Amino acid sequence: MTDCLFCKIIAGQIPAAPLYQDETLIVIKDINPQAPLHVLIIPRKHIASLNELSADDDALVGSMFRRGAALAREHGYDERGYRTVFNTNRDAGQTVFHIHLHLLAGRPLAWPPG
Ligand code: 5GP
Ligand code: ZN
Repeated sequence: MTDCLFCKIIAGQIPAAPLYQDETLIVIKDINPQAPLHVLIIPRKHIASLNELSADDDALVGSMFRRGAALAREHGYDERGYRTVFNTNRDAGQTVFHIHLHLLAGRPLAWPPG
């Protein structure tokens, strides 16, 4: 996907300082953080939104959530709490059409969200 921001970051065409990376995932800080910890857990595979997931992606999505929990624990937020969010399409405010799991922590997070 040549016009995808996160594919460009994954390909190294746009510099980023990954907090974590492995053969399937990359984790970067959000450029516009909404909490003291706000990172994006991004699969290397280009999937535009949750609407495009297939059964083949089940393990990948599971690993994204497990990575989110591991990062929350590493930053000391596992007991206090944190939020993991996928935004999908217009009403949820999705702006980058390559799936990413937001991990937010470090302040009380209102519910319901806006
Ligand atoms: P969405 O609204 O699609 O769920 O989330 C996209 C997120 O990507 C936003 O929170 C936005 O701040 C973040 N973002 C947009 N452009 C960049 C960028 O170039 N670098 C990083 N690290 N984050 C970005
Ligand atoms: Zn992409």
